[in-house]
Amino acid sequence: MSPSPLFFLLFLSSFSLSAQNLRYTIEVEPQLAKDMRIAVDLEFYHSGHDTLYIGLPGQINQVTKAYKHYRNWSVTGGRIVARDSTKITIKRTEKNAPTLQLHYDIFPPTVGDAVTRTNSSAPLLQPDYLHIRGYSLFLIPLNYKNFEVEVNWKKVPRGWKIQNSFSFDTKQQKFKSNNREDWRRTNWIAGDFRQYKANVFGKPVCFAVRGTWNFEDTTLFNIILKTVKTQREQWNDRDIDFYSVSLIPYKLPAKPSEWDKESLCMGNGLYQSFVTYADESVLLDDFIDLFNHEMMHEWIGGRIDEGIATASINMRWFVEGFTEYFALRNRWKAGFMTETEFFEEINQEYFIALYTSPNAELPNLVAESRRWESYDLERIAYRRGCIAAIYFDMAIRQRSNNKKNLFNLLNDLMDYTYGTDRNLTDSYDFFVETLAEYYGEDPTKWLNLYIDQGKKIPSTAFKLPNYLVVSANEAGIPQVQLNKAVKGAADLFLKD
Ligand SMILES: [Zn+2]
Repeated sequence: MSPSPLFFLLFLSSFSLSAQNLRYTIEVEPQLAKDMRIAVDLEFYHSGHDTLYIGLPGQINQVTKAYKHYRNWSVTGGRIVARDSTKITIKRTEKNAPTLQLHYDIFPPTVGDAVTRTNSSAPLLQPDYLHIRGYSLFLIPLNYKNFEVEVNWKKVPRGWKIQNSFSFDTKQQKFKSNNREDWRRTNWIAGDFRQYKANVFGKPVCFAVRGTWNFEDTTLFNIILKTVKTQREQWNDRDIDFYSVSLIPYKLPAKPSEWDKESLCMGNGLYQSFVTYADESVLLDDFIDLFNHEMMHEWIGGRIDEGIATASINMRWFVEGFTEYFALRNRWKAGFMTETEFFEEINQEYFIALYTSPNAELPNLVAESRRWESYDLERIAYRRGCIAAIYFDMAIRQRSNNKKNLFNLLNDLMDYTYGTDRNLTDSYDFFVETLAEYYGEDPTKWLNLYIDQGKKIPSTAFKLPNYLVVSANEAGIPQVQLNKAVKGAADLFLKD
């Protein structure tokens, strides 16, 4: 279901009437080893307020205290009267001018150091490139709701290429948004990247890459293009104006933890983009897995906004687990894996990996609060959520006689959150009620038992369409297979 054209017209006209301009001017000073910084000047409207607040970032993935990355503040038209970990407070002194100018320098915490798992989401500035999230680059006045943004790269080293979630090769970006989170959840890079571009459904997709890999850049780029194409076909979503992908090399720390050794590549799905980091030894299959997962976040976690976890609701199991499930299905559909490999991965990497983990039955909130302790704890949400996705997909297919499936549920959730300020955490009842409609019964008890409490789902609890089989292995762990007795079982299962 999509909103009517009338709804869109009303939405757009009210939006443009109240859009507020923000102008960022960026200068990069990477050459001076001791003084590498990104200098930003922000011009913004006070709209009659005498006291203005500018938000500061806190945690960005594993990077904590991101508010500490700024120095050399100054304001034209006002003065800073307070600063804490969440915001700066400015008193306006200039009465006549409609705007104020705020200057800040971003000092990356890891200048000259290699990119690692734990610092990858921090601003990275090296002699040859910069790589920074919108969260860090753009400080935003809290009195703004609708944003009309202009970004100007006034000074960057000669020869540096520019690419971000909106464009490539241009020193000016302009965009509008009514969602602060959307445009903060972006990526901005400049430097000596090797850059590749092509169109998918007539819309540009750009790949910026550094480092030395076991494969040609074009091999990776072709995988990216095929992934974009298959996923946009699946979501019937071909009008995404621009898409940016980046890959930068990443090093194991001098004293790698078990987790560091387990995760030789990683990434983050962002707005109209995803970013990846990898050790040079990484194999092609790991990249295929990573690209498919991160791109799926364009929808699951992006347009389907799960919201910010509260003390009682944490939906990372939904975002990461459903993303894993649909990325796996996409890999099968795109021909990146065979049917046998698909079921092997589901059975090994999800069922067996979770059910044999010492943390298998940790309650959801406990697992989440401890997620940075180890790779196994971090993976709980992915594995448990993926198994939940499989469970509900099968149950919905069975109940609807194959007319509905989990993808229909996701589309309903997307209609509810996309382009609105609604999200699934704040509207958790909506999530449960929508799931109930497809599932055919109230899933509250199920969610409580198998997600909140984290109990293992026994193999006998699955509700199956006739073309799937779930049986217990010798350790009692559920294993999924196609029912070969049913003609066209694979096609039936692959249909969304
Ligand atoms: Zn993810």
